[in-house]
Amino acid sequence: MTQKEFVAKLDQPRIVAAISAAEGRTSGEIRVHIQPKSGGDIRKVAERTFERLGMTKTALRNGVLLFIACEEQKFTILGDQGIDEKVPAGFWDDIAAKLTIRFQNGEFTDGIVEAIAGAGEHLATYFPRAADDVDELANEINIEP
Ligand code: CA
Ligand code: CA
Repeated sequence: MTQKEFVAKLDQPRIVAAISAAEGRTSGEIRVHIQPKSGGDIRKVAERTFERLGMTKTALRNGVLLFIACEEQKFTILGDQGIDEKVPAGFWDDIAAKLTIRFQNGEFTDGIVEAIAGAGEHLATYFPRAADDVDELANEINIEP
């Protein structure tokens, strides 16, 4: 599947709404990034992208990036260091396992929405949303060729 075909299947407003809803429960800042290929080590590429998108600039270092290499049907969930310092190992594993199955079934929007909701739920325990919460990172899907 080409990136164009993948993106055409996405309900982007629904995904953005899921980010807003998830951030209603947590101070964590969630974003989605889509590019065609990881070009090898998806984790490393995701880390570079995380930095490049300015996602390390949150006060609590609690940004989360769902990085998708759509033509490879691969993804990774990357949390910033503030999250890694607080949460147990394997924090994202159940979310990733569900998303893997969703991708296999071609349920891209449902899978991404579910992963975002799961991330919000998980993060709420460690990073509850304060009354004066600021939207530090715009709720958006970053799509790059
Ligand atoms: Ca926020
Ligand atoms: Ca946000």
